Amino acid sequence: MHYPERYLVTAALPYANGPLHIGHLAGAYIPSDIYVRFQRMMGKDVVYICGSDENGAAITLRALKEGKKPKEIVDEYDASFRKSFKGMGISFDMFHRTSDSLHHETAQEFFKTLYDQGEFKEEVSEQYYDDEAKQFLADRYIKGTCPKCGHDSAYGDQCENCGSTLSPIELIDPISTITGTSPILKATKHWYLPLDKYEGWLREWITDGTVDGEQLHDTQKWKNHVLGQCKSWLDGGLQPRSMTRDLDWGVDVPQSIEGAEGKKLYVWMDAPIGYISATKEWAKQNGKNWEEYWKDDKSELIHFIGKDNIVFHCLIFPSILKAHGGY
Ligand SMILES: [Zn+2]
Repeated sequence: MHYPERYLVTAALPYANGPLHIGHLAGAYIPSDIYVRFQRMMGKDVVYICGSDENGAAITLRALKEGKKPKEIVDEYDASFRKSFKGMGISFDMFHRTSDSLHHETAQEFFKTLYDQGEFKEEVSEQYYDDEAKQFLADRYIKGTCPKCGHDSAYGDQCENCGSTLSPIELIDPISTITGTSPILKATKHWYLPLDKYEGWLREWITDGTVDGEQLHDTQKWKNHVLGQCKSWLDGGLQPRSMTRDLDWGVDVPQSIEGAEGKKLYVWMDAPIGYISATKEWAKQNGKNWEEYWKDDKSELIHFIGKDNIVFHCLIFPSILKAHGGY
């Protein structure tokens, strides 16, 4: 049997707009901690990575509701996470933050590389805009009736009643959660990752564990519901997905790119890159080489995630890594 030379174990980054609950601990953190402690006892080279996920519209929205600044919100929950993990004895080697400058640089380098390699599709589309607040309404800034189940307060990206993934345009009678007014449609430019273009190799990788004929993982080790969800996305046909947002909080789209002003990276583009920035920070503090853990074939990357993170870890993050080419 073949064992990797080193293990990089990540636990899903908790989102810094609310406290941890027992489901977080039971789902991603206690299992990963047990796994890591076992590997350490076996004398394995293992690095255990996590951090606060501090970008995205749900944070600015929370700040708006509480009359605080986004920075105050993320500082509050980052401190709360650290206290909870310490209290539970979770043994991370690095608990980082996606508001850290090292993370901003790392995520921007990814975006710039993908941009320079022509991976993105640039598209101008009509999106909802709150004319009173003078801003575009990303994701959770918009509520309306779910077209699938009729639930009257579905968000622009998801209905929490029936679990459907939505786009704001699909909502019936949309309203802005900032001012409560009806938003108007306005043109804005964004950069899309053409997931449809990656469908071929993603399918091969998900179903056989191979990419370009090389065996990368054993599909038997993936849980059935993980494989099932990935296959259902693939069978439904992948769509290009916007990797940017009109927001005033988060990682800036590199300003050398034309039209980048006022645009931030989509939180699900920058958050998984947070695992890389956290590994860099750990390596810096411990005199190690982070690249060995991310770029060497003899390293194994193991994600512990929640079920609502499946598509991002199994389809979108792998697409970003492969499109980058250096991983
Ligand atoms: Zn619904």
